[in-house]
Amino acid sequence: MAFESEVVETSPLEADPLELRAAELNARLRDAHPGEILRAAVAEYGGRLALVSSFGAESAVLLHLAAQVDPSIPVLFLDTGQHFGQTLDYRKTLAARLGLTDVRDLRPQYQDLATQDPSANLYKTDTNACCNIRKVLPLDRALQDFDAWITGRKRFQGVSRLRLAVVEAGEGRIKFNPLANWSRAELDAYAKEHDLPTHPLVAFGYPSIGCWPCTNPVEEGQDVRAGRWAGSEKTECGIHVTRTPEPPNDAVGGDI
Ligand code: SF4
Repeated sequence: MAFESEVVETSPLEADPLELRAAELNARLRDAHPGEILRAAVAEYGGRLALVSSFGAESAVLLHLAAQVDPSIPVLFLDTGQHFGQTLDYRKTLAARLGLTDVRDLRPQYQDLATQDPSANLYKTDTNACCNIRKVLPLDRALQDFDAWITGRKRFQGVSRLRLAVVEAGEGRIKFNPLANWSRAELDAYAKEHDLPTHPLVAFGYPSIGCWPCTNPVEEGQDVRAGRWAGSEKTECGIHVTRTPEPPNDAVGGDI
């Protein structure tokens, strides 16, 4: 029995089984090879696991790694209606080349577009609202069928991702970030070793590729995501609202 003057300490992890689960998995996998992380994710979550890919500049490595583990894994692609034509072509050719058998195109709801963005120019006045109806809501709807998902984010992608954990909890699900630890050089070496096709816009100075209205090429030496929503405070589309359970010790300095 606790007296009024006693302070009963409760760990936040004790209050949230999902965060505890994420912390356990992160402790086990934080130094593992991306392929091992993917195998563990499939073993733990099976048919309740999806991979979310932008089919952007760095997507081929994660998709290739996943195809080696399970080519039938559901791959969710946010078809916002604002992609470069090159991205839509790349999505088809890369999926075919890797033998991915369950790529799903997630599109905005007609009613959301009709009421909030009938002229397809909401990005000019409110990028958060635009991302919400074209990315956040479609992904939320699709993830209802899953308990865990895989992302392609890496720590080197910018200051907003420096503390990215390999496994984290967010929005009621487990998120695996198999490439969190990898450097640009490791990604490039893997892509070269497996002769993976590159997104056609990389050659034109786009190291990170999203919707065409919100993606610019970057200068040599700039942050790889500097061309995303350039000139604004926005750095993420809103689908990665997470609580990191255990930031890795080596995180400091270390895509959709
Ligand atoms: S990235 Fe730009 S165009 Fe794409 S959904 Fe977000 S605001 Fe809209």
